[in-house]
Order: sequence, then C-alpha cells, then structure tokens
Amino acid sequence: PENGAGAPKMPPFAYTPPPYDGPRVAEIAQKRAQFLSPSLFHFYDRPLNIVDGKMQYLFDEDGRRYLDAFGGIATVCCGHCHPDVIEAIVNQAKKIQHSTVLYLNHAIADFAEALAAKMPGDLKVVFFTNSGTEANELALMIARLYTGSHDIISLRNGYHGNAAATMGATAQANWKFNVVQTGVHHALNPDPYRGAFGSDGEKYARDIQETIDYGTTGRVAGFISEAIQGVGGIVELAPGYLPAAYDMVRKAGGLCIADEVQAGVARTGSHFWGFEGQGVIPDIVTMAKGIGNGIPIGAVVTTPEIAKVLTRRSYFNTFGGNPVSTAAGHAVLKVLEKEKLQENAFVVGSYLKEKLNALKEKHDIIGDVRGKGLLLGVELVTDRQKKTPAKAEIAQVMNHMKGN
Ligand code: PLP
Repeated sequence: PENGAGAPKMPPFAYTPPPYDGPRVAEIAQKRAQFLSPSLFHFYDRPLNIVDGKMQYLFDEDGRRYLDAFGGIATVCCGHCHPDVIEAIVNQAKKIQHSTVLYLNHAIADFAEALAAKMPGDLKVVFFTNSGTEANELALMIARLYTGSHDIISLRNGYHGNAAATMGATAQANWKFNVVQTGVHHALNPDPYRGAFGSDGEKYARDIQETIDYGTTGRVAGFISEAIQGVGGIVELAPGYLPAAYDMVRKAGGLCIADEVQAGVARTGSHFWGFEGQGVIPDIVTMAKGIGNGIPIGAVVTTPEIAKVLTRRSYFNTFGGNPVSTAAGHAVLKVLEKEKLQENAFVVGSYLKEKLNALKEKHDIIGDVRGKGLLLGVELVTDRQKKTPAKAEIAQVMNHMKGN
C-alpha cells in the first residue's frame, strides 16, 4: 500500500478517487459480524474497507492505494472498472438487463461465438453458468450422462468448487465439509516441488491407470483437473502429465475436463488456455473468474456431439447467460486482444518471476517460486529441506502488505 509503514514507494498513477464519506471500516465490520455469514472472515484480522478500484489498484476509505496483486479473487483480468467493460455493461443494462433462455438475444449469442473462436478443435458449444462451481458441476454431470459411468477422477490438491459434486472433486481438507461426496477418486498430484517424481509428468500419470484399475470398474466418466492449480498454491502440473493422463482416461471411456477457472483467459501469458501449455485438447472446458473481469459468469464449452446429452431433458439456468454478464465477457475478450494482455502477462510475468527468483537466492524463507505469466506463486517455508510451510510468516507478510 501507498504510505504504509515501511512500504516501498509506488509508481505514480493518474487517478485519485473522490473523497469518501460513506460508512467506515468499524461500522461495516460490525454489520458484517451481525448480518453476514462468518465464512472466510477468520482469515483476515484487519479487514480493509475498499471503496474504489481502478485498473491494477484498489483504494481504501482514506484514499490509500494498494496494488491488487491477486486481481480480485483472480478475476479482474483487464483491470478494475476497465472503461470498455464498464461501457459494455452500462449500454447493455440500459437496453435489457435480463432475458430468459426462452428468447433470443444477440449479446448472449455474440459472446458464445467469440468464446468458441478462442477454442481449439471441435469445442464449439457453450453453456453459460454464473460461477466456476456451477460450470464444473455441469461438466461433471455431462461426463456422467455421456459415458453412463459415475466415476470421476480428480487430482489431490485440486480445487473445483463448493457444491455437491465439485466439493467431492476438490481434494483439500480445508475446503471440504462433511457432506455426501460420492463417486470421486483422487489421483497423485504431479507437483514438481512436493511430489515424489519431481518434474516427470508421465510417472505421476501412472497413478491414473492404477486408480482406474483398482478403484473403478475399468470404465470412468471423466477426469477433471486444472493445468496450474490455483487455490492449491499455484502448482503447475509436471510437464507431460496431461497427455499421458488424458490417454489413459480416454481408453477407459472417460471424458477429459479442463478446469480453466484460474489458468484460463490469457493469464499464463504463453497461451490463452492453461491446458494448451501441456499440448492437449480436452473434451470439456470450464471457465469463470477472468472471463467476466469479476462480473458473475461461468461457462462450459464442449463439442456438438457431447452437448447433445443436454437435449435429453429440459435443462436451463435462470441467470446463466445474462445479457449484461455476456456483454461484459465479450468486452473482456476485445480488451484482451486490443491491449495485447496475453503478451503483457508473458512479459510482466517473466520479469516478476525473474525478480522473485533473485529474492529466493537471498532469502531462505522462499522455498519455491513457480507458475507462468501472471499466475505466479511464492511458497514460504521455515525449512527449505523439509519444506515446512511458514504459516506465521505468511500471515505477517499479508498484514505487512496491507500496511501494518
Ligand atoms: N475451479 C477453480 C480452479 C477455482 O479456482 C475456483 C474458485 O476459486 C472454482 C473452480 C470455483 O469457482 P467459483 O468460486 O466461481 O464457484
């Protein structure tokens, strides 16, 4: 943050938010404690009252500026309140702000067409949802319907959402509740930093075959994974992993689902989609977060052949494909193109990674620097050999970055 105790100077920025005279942090925190669900709040011991956002910066109630290195929750891929995105939202909202699946509206069809153009192979049919969870729930259901199998394989340390099927596919204890999560098998994570086989993706993939052979009937519905795990700590899957895993899953009759909620939408710099970094073409791709620059929208993209399963019964989603959200999504794609933000993610991300690696040389607390483009992670450890997570220090860093 700007002016934070001991904080480095920030570069100049040509925007000063208007003075804020709304409720202050203490008043909002009190209402939050009284009226809002307590989930997640235990993470933050000094909440900020963020009242303004412009591109990569956020501003608090005192006008203090913060670099939003997390980009919302990894959502704001072309900047807070990007003028083109805001214009598209406002223009669309003035015309029609809700249109149901019963009518046609060009905002929805135009964005679907633009998204399909970003897809490789035969991935041309789009189904809109409102979130990443919903997109993954639908993808898992499609895989089950299409194959007639129930078994899903996902990776340990993966995160896919917080509803019934997706919480099952998620494999991190701190994001799970004790509710029914059936039909999922968690395979060994191809984690180059912590895994047993280092960067040998093909060795990890053998566990997919073992999971199929020993945990299922030999037939599976599908396999879901991120290309770079986001919530799990920016873990880039070992090279060669996805081609080998996809091969095994397809031989067992399953569909391969790429969860691009975090790794997609140009964030890795080298490719538009994370899976492209592993040289595979999935059967189903799911996305959310960045595709709306923070506006709630998710999508499932699959092939015409697979999409046919959804015609067996009526299937719809009241808000999925809302014209305001799809207008925002379409504007995001145009901004990414116009401002060459994929190239920017590559250039800025490579620079940042180089500098973080230089810091690693100097500071033992940095155990690992990883990821691609602007999907980067730094793992702090108290012991480099044992790779012990530096939990207390992580909290200190977070507070320091808020200006404490
Ligand atoms: N998949 C991945 C890779 C995610 O990172 C997330 C959220 O963090 C989700 C799915 C769930 O998305 P949402 O929070 O929009 O439901």
